Formats: sequence, structure tokens, C-alpha cells
Amino acid sequence: MLLKKETSVFRTAVFRITVWYVMIFFFALITIYVSSRIILSSSNIKMIDNILLQESNNLISDLNDGGLKKIKSEMQEDAQKEGLKKVFYRLLSKESTEIFTSNLNEWQHMDYKTMNDLIKRSLDGNIVYRTIYFKDKKLNTRVITREVDDGKYVLQIGRVIHENQEMIERYDNIFGWIVVIMMLCGTVLGWRVTKKTIAPVERITQTALKIGNEGFTHRVKKGNEGEEIDRLADAFNNMLDRIEILMFDLRDVTDNIAHDLKTPVTRIKTIAETSMLNISDSEGAYDGYEVILEECDHLTNIINTILDISEADAGLKEINVSKVDLVSLVKKGYELFSPVAEDKGVLLKFSCAFETIAVSIDDRRLQRIISNLLDNAIKFTGQKGNVIIEIDKSDEYAEIIVKDTGIGIKEEELEHIFEKFYRVESSRSTPGSGLGLTWVRSMITAMGGTISVKSEFGKGSTFILRIPLNLSA
Ligand code: ADP
Repeated sequence: MLLKKETSVFRTAVFRITVWYVMIFFFALITIYVSSRIILSSSNIKMIDNILLQESNNLISDLNDGGLKKIKSEMQEDAQKEGLKKVFYRLLSKESTEIFTSNLNEWQHMDYKTMNDLIKRSLDGNIVYRTIYFKDKKLNTRVITREVDDGKYVLQIGRVIHENQEMIERYDNIFGWIVVIMMLCGTVLGWRVTKKTIAPVERITQTALKIGNEGFTHRVKKGNEGEEIDRLADAFNNMLDRIEILMFDLRDVTDNIAHDLKTPVTRIKTIAETSMLNISDSEGAYDGYEVILEECDHLTNIINTILDISEADAGLKEINVSKVDLVSLVKKGYELFSPVAEDKGVLLKFSCAFETIAVSIDDRRLQRIISNLLDNAIKFTGQKGNVIIEIDKSDEYAEIIVKDTGIGIKEEELEHIFEKFYRVESSRSTPGSGLGLTWVRSMITAMGGTISVKSEFGKGSTFILRIPLNLSA
């Protein structure tokens, strides 16, 4: 079923990431704005301070050249020239008594307490600069205060920072527009970039939804979003391949189980019905019960083997490891199967160049593994054929080799013989469930070993069990 949930745009990852983009963008712009404003206004102040210093130097040299008269007339002239609203000049005694000032009609709201404070601060030879806000003008004024004539007088010059404030206002205005434009661009760009980045996630979601709806044939298509995304798509597709195989296997196994259980159950039912009809025939009923028990045993075997395989594959199988002599264990198997081989007219041989090989292994399970391989070898070898069981050893592992001159297995079927319920077409007539080799492989793997097979169709097969000696005693 396709789950189409109504999602609000505000809950989408694209929206949230875009908001983050825009916020980061906004804070970056604000930081640039604040720092550039600080730089701008401090450079303006520096420029005005230089003008004030230059002016005060000129007036001091006027005082030195022509005394009080000269400085007074220069102060008056400069104030007229610059504009009475823009500048003021004050010459004071060090006790803050005014000696001369330019026309102060435009400076009614002069804060004399602050001005006197500046005078006090300048008395030990400091040149004091201060920005003072004039309420009436609604403007900042930069004031320089410095001693003149070795502390006999104090000179104060004030100059409004009018033009510069206009410039800053213009700057604010322009920057405001830049912020708006950049934010709009940032939103569009952030949205597009995020959408492009999230696109593969959307593709994977769509694929998952299609799989849920239409089946396992769909795969995630690769775009060109970069290696990480390709890897994600590959990982997802590999996972789907694996699930598809598992699903296929599961279906196969289910079909096989159904098929394998159907025959014995049908037989049990038929025999039970016949026995009921002939209830007076006690001998016939006894035979019927015997067959029922046989079939029940057969069913129990199949079920137990399947459970055993599942447990071993899941790593849950308890392995009872003990020290055993591999040579005598294999020999026991050989001796057990010799009469069976003889009955069938097959020559069973045993070959081993070693007296003993000590291994740590679950001996009961290994015995059953060997029995399975010998049983198959004898079963699929015709009269006068040979089956040989050999033991070999290297530094790292011991090998048990079961070789027969039987019917052999075709190459294309060889890779399937370890699958659950798989039986080669030509051997369907022989008894068996197709679970033996699956069980063998699961058990030997659970014990740290391996199994491999070589075969030539019509000539015979060789099964090789390898048991690592580093796991062995
Ligand atoms: P089964 O109960 O059918 O023997 P197995 O899992 O033991 O089940 O074997 C699976 C299939 O592998 C067999 O049905 C047979 O077709 C093939 N096979 C196994 N051993 C041999 C062998 N030694 N020679 C030829 N075919 C074999």
C-alpha cells in the first residue's frame, strides 16, 4: 500500500535546512555590517580628531605669535567661516573661567559640567577628545580640550560630526537593501541547493514506496550528486538484491517444505483411513501403524534438520568441543558404511598416512557429517564403483576427502547442491530430502571449517572437508 502522508512544507527537511541557511546568511551579513560600521565611524572620528588637532595647533601658534588678541580674532574668523552652527571655540583659564568664546548662540544646550570636567582632565598636559551629544541639534559633536601656554589657558574646540552621520545613514540605507536582496537570493539559493542535496533521499524513499507497492524489481537510480550518494544508492541496491535473493530462497524453501511434507502426510492419512475401515483386521492395522510411525519419524527428521540448520546459521548452535583423534573417528565411519557399500556392490576404501591427528571438535556432529558424505557417495555410485575416504594434513588444517566414481554433478548444478532442498534432476529418483549437504555445510562452518566440492559429470565427485588446526588441539 502506498503511504501518501500529507506533509506540511514547514516540517520538511528542505524547509528546515533552508531556514538554517538563511539564518546563517543573515547573521554573517549582520556581523559584516556591525564590524564595517565600527570601522567606518572610528575612521571618521579619527579624521575629525586630526582636523581638531590641526586647528588647535594653528590657534596655539597664533597665540604665540600675536598674543590673546591674535588668537581671539582667528577664533572669531574661523567660526564665521566654518559656520556658527557647526563649530565653537572657547579659550578659558585653568579655573574654567571663560576668557573668550566664539558666538555660542547656536550651542544653548552646552553641558558646562561635562565641559569643565574635560578641562580638569587636560590640565596635566593631556589632549582630551570626547564625543558629546547635543540634544537640541540631535547630533554628536567632537570636542578637543588641551592646555595652551604651559597650562596658563585651556583651549576647547567643538565640531559637529554632521556630514559623517549623513554618510553613515546613506551607508545604512544601502546596506539595508543589500541585506534584503542577499536574503532573498540566500533563500532561493538555499532552497535549491538543499532540494538538490536531498534529492537522492527522495529517490530512495520513492523506490522504497514502489517496492512496497509493486515488488522487488525496482532499484535506486544513480544521479551525479557525488560519491557518497552513489555509495548510499549502491548500499541500498545491494541490500535490496540480498533481500530479493532471501525472499526467493524463502519462497523456494516454503515450496519445498510444502512439497516434502505433503507426501508423508498424505500417506499417513491414507493409512489411517484404511486402518479405520479394516478395524477388525488387527494385523493390517499393526502394519499401518508401523508405516505411520515411520512417516512421522521422517517428518520429525526433516523438521529437526531445518531447525538445526537455522540455529547453526544464526550462530546459536551449541557446539560441544572435545579433543578427539580424527583418524579413529573417520575409520569408525568407514567401518560403519563398509557393509552398506558391500551390499550395493561398491568398493569402499580408507586411506591415511597418519597414525593419529588430534583435533578439538564436536565429534558427534563430525561423525554425522562424515556419514552424510559417505551415504551420498555410496548412494550415487553404481555397482563396481569405488568410494575412497582419505585423511590429509598440512600445517594449518586437516582434510577429510570423500571421493567417488559415481554419477557426478553438472557444473551448473554444482553451485546449488548446498542449498536447502536442492536435488539434482537426475538423482530425484533416489531417496533423500535435499537437506543433507545444507546441514553438513552449516555444521562445518559453525565449527570453523569449510567444505568444497569438485565433480565431473558421469565420472564422479570429490567432497573436501577442511578443519583448521589452529582451532584444534
Ligand atoms: P539428498 O538427501 O538428496 O542426498 P543432499 O543435500 O545430501 O540431499 O544432496 C543434494 C543433492 O546433491 C543430491 O540430491 C544429489 O543430487 C547431489 N549429490 C550429493 N552428493 C553427491 C555425490 N556424491 N554424487 C553425485 N551427486 C551428489
